[in-house]
Amino acid sequence: MKEFDYIIIGGGCAGLSLAYELEIYEKLKDKTLAIIEPRSEYKRDKTWSFWKVIPHNFEDCVIKSWENFTVNSPNKVKYLECKKTPYQSIDSGTFYQKILKRLQKNKNIFFFKNINEISTLNSVVFNSVSNQKDNNNNLWQHFCGIEVETDKDFFDDEIFNLMDFACEQRNRVHFFYTLPFSKRKALIETTWISEINNEKLKDYDQQIDDYLANHLNIRNCKVNYKETGAIPLFRANNLKKSKEINIGTAGGMTRLSTGYTFLNIQEQSKYIRENIERITDVKLFKIKKKYEFLDKIFLKVLKNNPAQMGQIFYKLFNSSPSGVINFLSNKSNFKEDLGIISKMPKWIFLKELF
Ligand SMILES: Cc1cc2nc3c(=O)[nH]c(=O)nc-3n(C[C@H](O)[C@H](O)[C@H](O)COP(=O)(O)OP(=O)(O)OC[C@H]3O[C@@H](n4cnc5c(N)ncnc54)[C@H](O)[C@@H]3O)c2cc1C
Repeated sequence: MKEFDYIIIGGGCAGLSLAYELEIYEKLKDKTLAIIEPRSEYKRDKTWSFWKVIPHNFEDCVIKSWENFTVNSPNKVKYLECKKTPYQSIDSGTFYQKILKRLQKNKNIFFFKNINEISTLNSVVFNSVSNQKDNNNNLWQHFCGIEVETDKDFFDDEIFNLMDFACEQRNRVHFFYTLPFSKRKALIETTWISEINNEKLKDYDQQIDDYLANHLNIRNCKVNYKETGAIPLFRANNLKKSKEINIGTAGGMTRLSTGYTFLNIQEQSKYIRENIERITDVKLFKIKKKYEFLDKIFLKVLKNNPAQMGQIFYKLFNSSPSGVINFLSNKSNFKEDLGIISKMPKWIFLKELF
């Protein structure tokens, strides 16, 4: 059976980001790489958004950048600025095509549909396939979004809406998220944080229709694209294997309080590329412990106090917007952390600590 220096299991966001990073920094000139990916075609299936707190390789896949955003509680709107760290949205379709086009030029890179087709004995393996054991108590961020196009100018494309809590909560946490890509085009998502097996929350189409008609006042529009997804807000349970490194969601790159993963994947890819020659001997790239600790408390609060969460998210942004953005993007300093903690309702959070 054929052997390779490196194997990447899963050619999704993390697998392809890593392969691209290794390729552009010429780490695959005299090393071989096998990418295992079962999907038969790549098309747009996700919209990855984040505050750009670090440079990344995919500026040319950005659909749109914003320097302003809003957060809505049921009867208030907060206007916030993010000029220094614009919020960017990446089209996964463009991302996949850009990477595959580049990788296909390197004769040392091979694609397979199944790991059984090759030998893994002497390779360093990067695995992005999660073993997600869900005990029904775990929280997920699950959502459905559609890209709508109107026939007249409708959206203010200078400002996006991060969270709008003016919607039914059904004793869970629910908000809408709107990314206006142009005056006539926007991605509108209904987002829940709850256990995953709660089918009563999954009438997503109805929720979006109601929001469009009754909240945004859009009666006529074309639907260009639809995405649904579920991000686990708990860690994967992959077995530790020698010479195997978990990457992406499987490698703990998701911020548990928010679901943000994309930029963490880019940082993890960079770290692996910088250390590739001795990657099995260096420590693993991880999200800092302080965020893991604070996120776990935050999720406990969220689980036990769903009705308060609209207010809590709104209050979070009473702190300086740049501090909150840095905090949500794992880049906050001690002062910014304190600023955020001081805005949270003390009693509710203290209760969850013990
Ligand atoms: C719809 C959606 C929208 C998201 N939006 C954002 C966002 O806006 N911002 C953000 O930061 N994060 C976002 N995330 C979270 C995160 O960035 C993505 O889930 C991201 O794709 C995670 O990358 P990954 O490589 O870990 O997983 P994936 O991208 O899912 O890649 C895993 C790959 O493994 C393949 N695979 C599956 N089984 C096997 C197998 N047995 N063998 C080999 N390969 C296999 C799959 O086909 C897939 O290609 C979103 C997630 C979803 C689902």
